[in-house]
Amino acid sequence: MSQVEIISTSSSVDLGVTNREPSGHSDGLSWTTNILVDNLSSSPTLRLTASQPRGANINIDENIFPSLPPLLHGHPSIHLRNGVMNASRAAANRDPDAERAFFVADLGQVYAQHLRWQACLPDILPFYAVKCNPDPYVLRLLAALGTGFDCASNGEISQILDIGVDPSRIIYANPCKAVSFVRNAGKLGVDMMTFDNIDELYKISRAHPRAQLVVRILADDSKSLCAFNTKFGASLVAVPGLLRKAKELNLNVVGVSFHVGSGCYDPSVYTDAVMRAKTAFDMGTEAGYHFSVLDVGGGFEDASFEQAATFLTDAITTYFPDRHGIKIIAEPGRFYVSKAFSLATNIIARRAPVTEAPVNDEHSGRPAVMYYINDGVYGAFNCILFDHQTVHPYVLSIGGSFHVAASEPVTNSSVWGPTCDSIDCVCPTTQLPGALRVGDWLAFDNMGAYTVCAASQFNGFEVSKVIYTTGGFAASEVRGVLAKFVEDGHNC
Ligand SMILES: *Cc1c(COP(=O)(O)O)cnc(C)c1O
Repeated sequence: MSQVEIISTSSSVDLGVTNREPSGHSDGLSWTTNILVDNLSSSPTLRLTASQPRGANINIDENIFPSLPPLLHGHPSIHLRNGVMNASRAAANRDPDAERAFFVADLGQVYAQHLRWQACLPDILPFYAVKCNPDPYVLRLLAALGTGFDCASNGEISQILDIGVDPSRIIYANPCKAVSFVRNAGKLGVDMMTFDNIDELYKISRAHPRAQLVVRILADDSKSLCAFNTKFGASLVAVPGLLRKAKELNLNVVGVSFHVGSGCYDPSVYTDAVMRAKTAFDMGTEAGYHFSVLDVGGGFEDASFEQAATFLTDAITTYFPDRHGIKIIAEPGRFYVSKAFSLATNIIARRAPVTEAPVNDEHSGRPAVMYYINDGVYGAFNCILFDHQTVHPYVLSIGGSFHVAASEPVTNSSVWGPTCDSIDCVCPTTQLPGALRVGDWLAFDNMGAYTVCAASQFNGFEVSKVIYTTGGFAASEVRGVLAKFVEDGHNC
């Protein structure tokens, strides 16, 4: 059975929106699923789709983890469309939450990134940065694939230990920790942790003297969306003093870490960072240590990953020609998840000029048409504020159809979140079809990093739920990896 056929071509679902304004472009209010199917089969992304056999054990298959939502089959675009159709059914049934926004997460995409990592950086063990997206499926998949984890708090550490990961696969990579958290890490057997200041050394010597310490040094973070240097990292000048103090306190320092900043758009900064790490290694030798861990941090971007990997590999070859006895790890976050999540949002309100053909308001300079959607910067789009992202909406459904004609005229528009705060702006200006109306759906891709994890419920709006699929890429491998993880007795 092909993926496309999962959506019945014979059914037509009423949109469930009454009082819909006539928009001139639409030939009805029901889903024209034949268009949907045509549209899907001509979509270039769907050529990747491998047919997933749907055997009799489909339900068991979808519930690999009984405590989690089902893991569906099929390309994410199918589930975006299914979600929209389910919403219209729910609206017809007067479900109070019918049109809520939802994510579709494609675990095949996370797996694809892991393969990319292994192909480009085979000698660097990734410790996934949990804060980026602590999604329960993502964590289980990465655990099953053998990655380590970068945790920053008691909560993140328990989340990883609870799925059956050995504490030796965790680096507690927060250089400024609460004493009680350090003590708890010691109790749980999480030994590897970072530091960048003297006070941290005093705390660790009291609370977890057996810890294996990694000194976090400053790296050039000026080429990143989120710089960290203002908050973390010891300058190289400070490192010898820190190491002397560590020695005095009888602490074990095992290596060096850095972070070039999150969302690094100039991967050449890795070269300088590895050079500094080498200097810190030499300082370690001077202080009487024998360092064995080089932690190259995170910052890896999807678009420039291969380039970053080349800079990193070359720098390691240059500055660490003899890598014997040195374990190299990294803390990628964004790289693994950003592309794996898409978000579907419903247009809940619209403000447009009374005239038929909207024009831009020349005096204010702001777009004439304003769309209000049901997730915003207090929710998934917090990435706009905290992670300095810009997001790009596209039409998921318009006038009851998933098909947007190429000739559809567009208007300069803005997109806003649902709360009563004016900071809640998703897109200050973007081109969208002028025919979009309340009830239509906008989608956003690349919504996996620093989105769900920092969403609030401000103003009573719930965090958007996630629909999971193995997607088109390597679906059976991903399911196999997860099934084996359970079989191996992991506590899930
Ligand atoms: C946030 C963070 C990461 C992950 O950064 P990405 O840019 O998402 O790869 C890694 N390490 C530390 C210490 C972090 O704080």
